[in-house]
Amino acid sequence: MKNREDQDKIIIINTGGTIAMETDEETDSVRPGQKQPLHTIEPTLAQYTRFEMVDLFNIPSPHMTLERMYTLGRTIMEYASQANVSGFVITHGTDTLEETAYFLDLTLQTDKPVVVTGAMRSSNELGADGPVNLVQSVRVASDAASRRRGVLVVFNDEIHAARFVTKTHTSNIATFQSPQHGPVGMLTKKNVAYNQPPSRSQRYTISRVKRNVPLIKMVTGMEEAWLAFLLEQKIDGLVVEAFGAGNVPPAALPVLRELTARGVPIVIVSRCYNGYVQDLYGYEGGGKQLKKMGCLFCNGLIGQKARIKLIVALEAGIPAHLLQAEF
Ligand code: ASP
Repeated sequence: MKNREDQDKIIIINTGGTIAMETDEETDSVRPGQKQPLHTIEPTLAQYTRFEMVDLFNIPSPHMTLERMYTLGRTIMEYASQANVSGFVITHGTDTLEETAYFLDLTLQTDKPVVVTGAMRSSNELGADGPVNLVQSVRVASDAASRRRGVLVVFNDEIHAARFVTKTHTSNIATFQSPQHGPVGMLTKKNVAYNQPPSRSQRYTISRVKRNVPLIKMVTGMEEAWLAFLLEQKIDGLVVEAFGAGNVPPAALPVLRELTARGVPIVIVSRCYNGYVQDLYGYEGGGKQLKKMGCLFCNGLIGQKARIKLIVALEAGIPAHLLQAEF
């Protein structure tokens, strides 16, 4: 029998967000308080599992950066090498949670469950969802069926794949949805129930995250001058949120053409959050023209995820002529 020190445990890593904040009635604002409220949930969590809670950052998630994501990934991998660590829960602000979750999904070299969660209501708000999301996440991270599924997002009793999940509502506690694929599982009162077999994204080995990859959105009446800044700086890649199946206004073409001529990879995604982009339309700015120019078409990722993937793929040293296969 294992002694207590050797027994399996979950590592909970706090990074901040509303789950770690409180509402201040005087200023009518939500912000970090004097105490980290997540520590008050520890006695409840102890009823479910052995765990260790680590305070890595205490930032609102709009302050998240790729460097911080990388530090988080390194921290997870240091713990993952310990045999008695069986899984991870990361608490995170919801605004950019899906980007960090997908970054980890692409870069962590472990089959141990990694679950990302947060809260829409601060710790002292009526119906605060942080404690229940944390307990449910610990239940998922402790379940052997959660292994080899890549990074998961647990929220409001649902389990989502990091690759597909997105924040869909500014305040509703059911904000996290996977519009195209639905949740991969759910939490019942008694167990963790998956409705899809394990599958995970390809993993990349990276040792830094320095690539400069902007994301731009196409709109009607776009003017060429709006995009000029893209030619004035060194960019390593570009993600374009195009219309529908992958089309842009003609005014965007000169800058995109110049960037491809300079060898900058351009990934086309859709403003629609369902469906695939394809080289379908033959008119000026249509997908056929973009494909001919050398733009890459991305299947099934929304803009902010495609950006993370392009950065990671570039850092992993995938050469330009093989990038399309990654998307
Ligand atoms: N603005 C907050 C953040 O992302 C929202 C939240 O955590 O729910 O940090």
